[in-house]
Amino acid sequence: MKKLFAVLGNPIGHSMSPVMHNDLFSFFNIDAHYLPFQVQKEDLLDAVKGLKALGAGGFNVTIPHKSNIIPFLDGVDELAASIGAVNTVVNEDGCLIGYNTDGPGFLKGLHAYLPVIKGKKVLVLGAGGAARAIYFTLAKEEPQAVDIANRTIEKAWSLIKDCPYSISSSALSLAEAEKKLADYDLIIQTTMIGMSPKIAEQPIYLDNLSKQTMVCDIIYNPFETQFLHDASKKGARIQNGLDMFVYQGALAFEKWTGIFPDVERMRENVLGQLGGK
Ligand code: NAP
Repeated sequence: MKKLFAVLGNPIGHSMSPVMHNDLFSFFNIDAHYLPFQVQKEDLLDAVKGLKALGAGGFNVTIPHKSNIIPFLDGVDELAASIGAVNTVVNEDGCLIGYNTDGPGFLKGLHAYLPVIKGKKVLVLGAGGAARAIYFTLAKEEPQAVDIANRTIEKAWSLIKDCPYSISSSALSLAEAEKKLADYDLIIQTTMIGMSPKIAEQPIYLDNLSKQTMVCDIIYNPFETQFLHDASKKGARIQNGLDMFVYQGALAFEKWTGIFPDVERMRENVLGQLGGK
């Protein structure tokens, strides 16, 4: 019988995950189908119960349910629990267990550009769910420091306080971060500023950026945000959010099926959905 997989979010129409995962199921001859479901906050518990009752093999969770879903699951792994957000759920013998593949997905995608994080000075822009996942994952890689700059500085301090790993960090305002960009080996933009359709916006200006710094933006639509465009003009190496998206999906697929898929195939698939770049 065909196994059900899904993604729960709101909105969900834009999600690239169904086409990406359905292509993998068909490529590996797995009798399964992945469907997007738009779920309101007040219906989340019913949606989870419904997927469990239907014997779904697993599902992804996206904005705005990544944190709210935790009490509705049977268990959550250590990393997801410390981050406080789940993006992947696996049905393990009737128990729904939550994981977070966003941080590990980012790290795997970064590896081709920056293989070693140990000893590096990192700046994360933003202190939301994606920033938490990335910060906690990077903290385990022994960087020299990871600072967090956020519009609401209190949220940056809370993120630092919540981190279970020992790491040197300061919370900064966006204006403070703008002044000291040259101090960092790696800058990761995790806010939604610059995402389509508001593509002219950027969270900070990059006048003080050094060309030695690697600059990532976890947005992939547009393919090159204004922020990445300016970083590239400054001579810095840049990476958009497509690698993170593909690797978080590959890690989820591996948790559901035991198979780590071909990420190049997944990348081509998403690029096709984005209209080819
Ligand atoms: P979130 O939890 O809602 O966090 C949003 C962040 O953006 C917060 O730091 C927030 O600052 C900041 N922000 C929002 N509006 C702002 C503004 N006008 N000026 C300055 N800062 C602003 O969202 P999230 O889940 O972390 O997602 C953030 C982005 O990452 C989205 O674009 C999402 O699509 C992308 N993402 C990509 C991947 C991938 O696989 N590539 C995975 C996950 C997320 P405050 O704290 O001050 O509100």
